[in-house]
Amino acid sequence: MNKADSERIAGLLSNAGGSSVDDPAKADIILLNTCSVRDHAEQRIYGKLGELKRYKNNRPGMKIGVCGCMAQKEGEALLSRVPYVDMVVGPDNLHRIPELLLDGGIAVEEGNLPNVLPVQRENDLHAWVTVIRGCNNFCSYCIVPYVRGRERSRPAGVIVDEIKALADDGCREVTLLGQNVNSYGKDITNDCDFADLLARINAIDGIKRIRFATSHPKDMSDRLIRAITDLPKVCEHIHLPVQAGDDDTLRRMGRGYTVADYRWLVDRIRAAIPNITLSTDVIAGFPGESESAFQNTVKLFKSIRYDQAFMFYYSPRTGTRAASLKEQLPLAVRKRRLAELIELQKNITCEINEAAVGKVEEVMIDRDNPSDTESMMGLTRGGKKVVIKEAAPGSRGSVVNVRLNQAYLWGFTGEPVEALCSNR
Ligand code: SF4
Repeated sequence: MNKADSERIAGLLSNAGGSSVDDPAKADIILLNTCSVRDHAEQRIYGKLGELKRYKNNRPGMKIGVCGCMAQKEGEALLSRVPYVDMVVGPDNLHRIPELLLDGGIAVEEGNLPNVLPVQRENDLHAWVTVIRGCNNFCSYCIVPYVRGRERSRPAGVIVDEIKALADDGCREVTLLGQNVNSYGKDITNDCDFADLLARINAIDGIKRIRFATSHPKDMSDRLIRAITDLPKVCEHIHLPVQAGDDDTLRRMGRGYTVADYRWLVDRIRAAIPNITLSTDVIAGFPGESESAFQNTVKLFKSIRYDQAFMFYYSPRTGTRAASLKEQLPLAVRKRRLAELIELQKNITCEINEAAVGKVEEVMIDRDNPSDTESMMGLTRGGKKVVIKEAAPGSRGSVVNVRLNQAYLWGFTGEPVEALCSNR
């Protein structure tokens, strides 16, 4: 979501006549796009703002802005704490950045971004496309519904037109974004749920691959699983945040499923899509999580064997229900549990990747390798990174069958096993 918003911010500034510089000392405008899911992310922004003060002192007229979820959450408080910040812009108000650059100020009203905004994409072959903003779930630890508001789906026709224009512009892969894409369409008279939307995007000429994130396990339907199997452009990767592997913890998190529900869902997904890549999010040390409850999460990780996991220790967010629970765990306990999960998951990812060596995977070459001009990089359909040693120069945008030669925690090195199978 933040990457997509950053590309919009860059597009807005470029449209207003701006261009990027690689040295903050030379910038007339510095905008920080922020996250507020964890306290650590917020503290880093305050630290960064401290560093930026000297640039502003040396360059009178420089504007500093804070955008995104932390801007939304902190609002006026941010301006009081860091008075040299010129503007504070929440995620629903990014379109107001050019106007705020003139006079400064604060824009944190809840609403909808205009459907069409200029975007400066980091990779011309790939686009982030938001299909639904906000979240209605109010998991007890999560700040997102408070800073990004309730669910608002974008009309299917607008999304399809946007992706057709992207395809005409050379884009070959889209990632559809939403806090919970499985809720897509429920809030509007659209006659189109997320599975239908995938089918409509699958029919767009020029688009070769469709990815999406995130799927809430309680809302993942069999229709969506079927869409992944039936629609050739939809890639076999599901990000399915589990958050905990213990029923009592899940109940107190307000996740709306049990461990058995989650396992049953994974069984159905794997039966329908045997080559699926599964990734997840997990929180270690949620308030009141006993050692045995945590070990249930460890057990779940050992049995599901995710390809990848985004792991964090619990971070209390003021205003959420979990932050006021009495049984907050000491930081040392949360960190120790997190370290255990990270170590376990590293081994699992390495084992899964090792087992794939020798296999042939379809890779879309989408970028140069910054550390080696002799090779190119791309992703498998499951979303794993591959460095391709003998990719032809100018092969960006091609889809190639690649034999995986060597496995790493981050992905693979490999070589093409046939002439490029499909060009841009
Ligand atoms: S579904 Fe995700 S974004 Fe929504 S409240 Fe729960 S954790 Fe937060």
